[in-house]
Amino acid sequence: MVRFTVLASGSRGNSALVCSGRTRILVDCGLSCRELFRRMKLAGEDPATLDAIVITHEHSDHVAGVAVTARKLGIPVYFTEATHRAWMRWLAPRRQMTYAQWLEQCRRQAAERQAEADAPEEGEPDASDLAAESTAEAPATEAGEAAPTAGKDPAWLPSVQYFEAGTPFAIGDIAVNPFTVSHDAADPVGFVFQAEGVRLALATDLGYVSPNVRAQLQRLDLLLLESNHDLEMLRDGPYPWSVKQRVLSRVGHLSNEAAASFLEEGYDGQAAYVILGHLSENNNLPELARLAAERALSCHASLLANRILLAAQHEPLPPVCF
Ligand SMILES: [Zn+2]
Ligand SMILES: [Zn+2]
Repeated sequence: MVRFTVLASGSRGNSALVCSGRTRILVDCGLSCRELFRRMKLAGEDPATLDAIVITHEHSDHVAGVAVTARKLGIPVYFTEATHRAWMRWLAPRRQMTYAQWLEQCRRQAAERQAEADAPEEGEPDASDLAAESTAEAPATEAGEAAPTAGKDPAWLPSVQYFEAGTPFAIGDIAVNPFTVSHDAADPVGFVFQAEGVRLALATDLGYVSPNVRAQLQRLDLLLLESNHDLEMLRDGPYPWSVKQRVLSRVGHLSNEAAASFLEEGYDGQAAYVILGHLSENNNLPELARLAAERALSCHASLLANRILLAAQHEPLPPVCF
């Protein structure tokens, strides 16, 4: 049996679960580890049985809990290399320095090295000394900069696996096909998962449905598609104009109208379930997203296909089983 469960969907956190009889994959980890586990239990899933985490892109609503979760469970995390690098940069932001500040830092470090060289030998420092050293640097950082955690690398993961968009790979008995989406991240992807003859696709965080995305989202049994905002609500809504521009752009988010136009004209109408996700809490209403998709899908006359579900931000959807 294949199961798909949306644990959270929206700008405050995204996570979904793809399970076959043998393999369980978490797609994105935008909740805290504690909240993720709570929701998995609500959905009847045991976190201890997870095999891997795959990441679509490095925005915090998709990765906020990934390090803690992967460490706690001792499982690998699959990224593209560019996404992994961007995620590490996000965890350890470097302070922008002026040239004068840089010179001052060089002088200070040289003086510290000199002081160390002058100090009497006390043998090799052990790991706890090194930890203390990196903690000791923390007070020197300016307010607002993330202080290093005591001796621990915040980006440390039990295992990192790289994949490339356009190159399918397998985790257990689930085939994973990552495809490029247009979004303002380092190397964002969507996924098609296939197991036991069932095909599931996840496509959120995309500015528009490119020809490549359209080609991927066919012959599916389940489609999780972004339906982020209602165009009028976004235009009249509270966001500053620069943010509105970003959301509306081709590397932003898919509107109800754009999702509907894909469902009407670009999609083969075969999926048993269409789940609308990543709905904006400020610029959308679930009824508007549903109505737009219903209208669009009415052209695909089929009694068994295209049941519409709405993924929510604050509670998991009941699992969809095949
Ligand atoms: Zn997102
Ligand atoms: Zn994003």
